Amino acid sequence: MDLIKKLGKGVQIAEAERDRRRHEGFVADLFRGKASFSLLTPWHESSHEEQDKAERIAQEFKGLLRTCIDPEEVDRTDEVPGEALEQLCRFGFFGLKLPEEYGGLQLSQTSYVKVMSLVASWCGGTAASLSAANTIGVGGPIKHCGTLEQKQRYLPVVSRVPSGFAFTEKEAGSDPASMGMYALRVRSASGEVIGYRLNGEKLWTTNGPKDDRRFLSPLLCVIAKTVDKPEELSDESKKPVFSAFVVSTDAEGVRVVQRCQFEGLRGMYNGVTEFKDVYVSKSQLIGEQEGTGFRIALEALNTGRITVAGACLAIVKQCLLIDRWWGCARKQWGKKIGKHELIGSGMFASDLADAFAMEAMIKFASGRVDRDLDARLEAAVCKVFASERGWRVVDNTMQARGGRGYETARSLARRGDPPIPVERYHRSFRPNRIFEGSSEILSAGYVIREGVDEYKARGEVLFSRGNLGKKFIASLAFVADVARTFFPAFGGSQLRRAVHPSLRRHARFAERYSRKLARSIILNSARYQNRLVHKQLLFNRWFWIVAELFAMSAACAYASYLSASQRDDRFFSLADFYCREARIRVQNLFRAVARNNDAAERQVAESFLKGRYDSWLKEDIISIVDELGLKADY
Ligand SMILES: Cc1cc2nc3c(=O)[nH]c(=O)nc-3n(C[C@H](O)[C@H](O)[C@H](O)COP(=O)(O)OP(=O)(O)OC[C@H]3O[C@@H](n4cnc5c(N)ncnc54)[C@H](O)[C@@H]3O)c2cc1C
Repeated sequence: MDLIKKLGKGVQIAEAERDRRRHEGFVADLFRGKASFSLLTPWHESSHEEQDKAERIAQEFKGLLRTCIDPEEVDRTDEVPGEALEQLCRFGFFGLKLPEEYGGLQLSQTSYVKVMSLVASWCGGTAASLSAANTIGVGGPIKHCGTLEQKQRYLPVVSRVPSGFAFTEKEAGSDPASMGMYALRVRSASGEVIGYRLNGEKLWTTNGPKDDRRFLSPLLCVIAKTVDKPEELSDESKKPVFSAFVVSTDAEGVRVVQRCQFEGLRGMYNGVTEFKDVYVSKSQLIGEQEGTGFRIALEALNTGRITVAGACLAIVKQCLLIDRWWGCARKQWGKKIGKHELIGSGMFASDLADAFAMEAMIKFASGRVDRDLDARLEAAVCKVFASERGWRVVDNTMQARGGRGYETARSLARRGDPPIPVERYHRSFRPNRIFEGSSEILSAGYVIREGVDEYKARGEVLFSRGNLGKKFIASLAFVADVARTFFPAFGGSQLRRAVHPSLRRHARFAERYSRKLARSIILNSARYQNRLVHKQLLFNRWFWIVAELFAMSAACAYASYLSASQRDDRFFSLADFYCREARIRVQNLFRAVARNNDAAERQVAESFLKGRYDSWLKEDIISIVDELGLKADY
């Protein structure tokens, strides 16, 4: 606990508000040194009724998107046509996952990802708006944590209109400790809390401001610190009490400060909102319980991350189809460019294999959500994997398209070239690595923090001062943990059921290396003890080892399922190729755990941040930092 204190208020809060349920699932087991192939079989399939429903809604979406939304026009004007928004409301598309009894369409997670991917493949801005409303808007938090009365009151409304989630502030991005928004308790004469007054400013609320004066959403879910006096905010001894409120945007004191504009995802309505002495009644406190705001935020984000991954995959597939066409259509140096090894083999092959692995992971994670199984870690890994690898795919497509990749679709069309919007995809894809949990926070901060938790708890007993008896038991557990990593954790039957013979060697690799991972975590935890939390580069390597082992296993099981259930053997070669590449990456990552330049890197970073190279960097350029008068203090 002392160490947590030393790491600052943000880490203390994250620790205090952690969802402490033991992690279950394929990724959690990898940390325990097990590749649990039994979890990958039977491969989850939605019921026929659910599949039909998803298909029907997808068709409705297709019609609406094609007739009402011209993505190029949305990109140019930064506006989604009013008619399209009305149709989205009328069809109930803002309540895709809400229960039918409250006017929602009650799609399963698998169907929801399918439908949202379709939208993302057409118009990123529209997808961002729908996704914000359906996963982190008012509906999700009320569905998961609201009272019956709140469900009856709000869900029928938010299934028909966009809503938003207001968490981020100017000073509080990844780190909620600095959140300045507060909800001042209002008490009755008898001292009972009857309501709250909200004060503060929220940044980047998707579906919030429609322009500089009006809101898009009539309702926002707002996270604030609950206090009796504003002075409590600066009182270090007070543990912040985060609460979530449903706030009407036409309430007195709610004001648009500004609509924000972004590089991509144009047509997404997003901006800054001010709350000045806004009164909300107790019935607007979600769950009518203070202190649950953080949990509500995390709950909403969990499944949202799988949807972000699905949206990334949609653009990845879009890019691969462009690659396939362009690789055959474009000839340079007497050859189709796809036949130049650096393009076809160097880019397309690995991008295609990555896409297959992404799909396998996303379907597996969605299937777990549909069966009410824990998918917290899988969701986070899917999001980081799809946004990071997907970014490389989109960038490769831009490279393969050459100058045409960088030219806007509108300009291409004016010259008579097919208006392929790679430039728009490139601009719109980028924020996937930032929002709904940035890659750094999700990988080193969340997945590894949670994955090493069981070892950390034992290590704390072992290495801290205190009871010798407890230490003895902890040291036995430590030895047992290490010993376990030398023996396979499952019999061959699990693996045989889940994976086709042609891919089993890769599955065995995943099993072997999951044990090696557990060993690496145990031994490095013992080596670094309290210093371990600062080893983000090490955490990042562990994260990518986990991600690769999960991707390999899911790809093998998914290819095997497709072959067995649909007699489709095309994907064996893809899964095999993915695994061959992944094995090399995993081995390199383990090598880098043992031998690396981390110390040198730290030194370079430190001198850089101290300004040692400033004068050299400023030579021959007009420094924008100087132009703006910005100063850096280390
Ligand atoms: C298009 C868009 C839509 C958005 N929609 C919403 C919305 O609807 N509602 C809402 O509340 N917010 C929304 N956001 C905000 C988004 O969630 C934040 O941008 C995100 O949480 C990161 O916060 P930040 O931008 O302040 O970055 P910071 O927290 O300042 O981080 C800056 C960089 O430092 C890294 N970093 C931070 N801490 C650590 C650490 N401990 N270790 C290693 N690296 C670290 C981050 O990964 C990042 O790369 C949106 C943002 C965008 C761009």
